[in-house]
Amino acid sequence: MIHDFNYMRASTVEETLGLIDRHKDNYKIICGGQSLLILMRQGLVAPEYLIDIKNVQELNYINFDRKDGLKIGATTTHRQIEKSTLIKKHYNVLVGMEEGLASVQTRNWGTIGGNLAHADPAGDPGPVFIAMSATVKMANKEKERTLPLEEFFIDYFETALEDDELLLEVQIPPISPKTSIAYEKFNIVKNDQGLVSVAVSVTLSDDGLSCKDTRIVLGAAAPIPMRAKEAEQALIGKKLNDRVLDKVGEKASVEADPVDDIHATEMYRRHLVKSLTKRMVKKAWEQAKALS
Ligand SMILES: Cc1cc2nc3c(=O)[nH]c(=O)nc-3n(C[C@H](O)[C@H](O)[C@H](O)COP(=O)(O)OP(=O)(O)OC[C@H]3O[C@@H](n4cnc5c(N)ncnc54)[C@H](O)[C@@H]3O)c2cc1C
Repeated sequence: MIHDFNYMRASTVEETLGLIDRHKDNYKIICGGQSLLILMRQGLVAPEYLIDIKNVQELNYINFDRKDGLKIGATTTHRQIEKSTLIKKHYNVLVGMEEGLASVQTRNWGTIGGNLAHADPAGDPGPVFIAMSATVKMANKEKERTLPLEEFFIDYFETALEDDELLLEVQIPPISPKTSIAYEKFNIVKNDQGLVSVAVSVTLSDDGLSCKDTRIVLGAAAPIPMRAKEAEQALIGKKLNDRVLDKVGEKASVEADPVDDIHATEMYRRHLVKSLTKRMVKKAWEQAKALS
């Protein structure tokens, strides 16, 4: 049963920050409600004030320019990202990621800000955005600040957002030359959350023969989306062959910190991390090669 609450609908960022400031001891932001309402129904959260930002239009945008890259406002829905021609053209990996995220109904309501602020370790956007070196912008009544997304996730369902802060925007820099990103999750039911997911970005050297830079990010394999930094080091400077791929996959599976639960054992998740990492490194590499 959902506890009684006071419902307030904001229509601007300024109004939202004012309401947060006034009720900061016991409030929750609600946007699409796809994650929050479940927690409220289960009695896991019982805010006295619910501040609805679904109608804050100034946070609903997808902007792109070649210098600064992509900016997505917090109240933009998953479906808007999936259907954006700008994103399809410049950041196509996000389209595939969104197509595999939940049902169309959930994507129609759920927002990118809500997804990141909810900080579910099995969330899809986190690993892909981190592989793309994304940052997030947030604000309270006094000031705005930005943070690399990889520092935004603190623990299970916990972020760096202060009690009085609102998430405003995700920023993704332009994709470097000879760079490609691949993302996949392994799930048993189509479009369900992944048992494990892996996002990889690969930048090839100027001659296209070796790896100049990489980010390997694991989802649902630790309390937060995590970079497998030893696996990254095992790839940088190398040419791609089966021995290197095996080593990179192995390192990632050892670095991972997966849970053991009713959906899968820890050992099985480590095995998935290894296979998915190898597959995504190969895919990102081949895509990057095809660009040259
Ligand atoms: C059936 C189902 C299947 C799903 N499958 C997937 C899946 O496969 N992959 C996946 O990644 N997700 C999945 N989800 C999760 C869901 O899609 C996302 O969590 C959703 O995007 C949340 O957005 P929302 O706007 O609905 O957030 P809400 O539910 O409104 O809010 C979620 C949390 O974020 C906070 N919040 C929201 N906006 C802001 C903001 N701008 N600033 C600060 N805090 C904010 C709220 O206070 C709350 O704590 C699924 C959800 C459902 C119901």
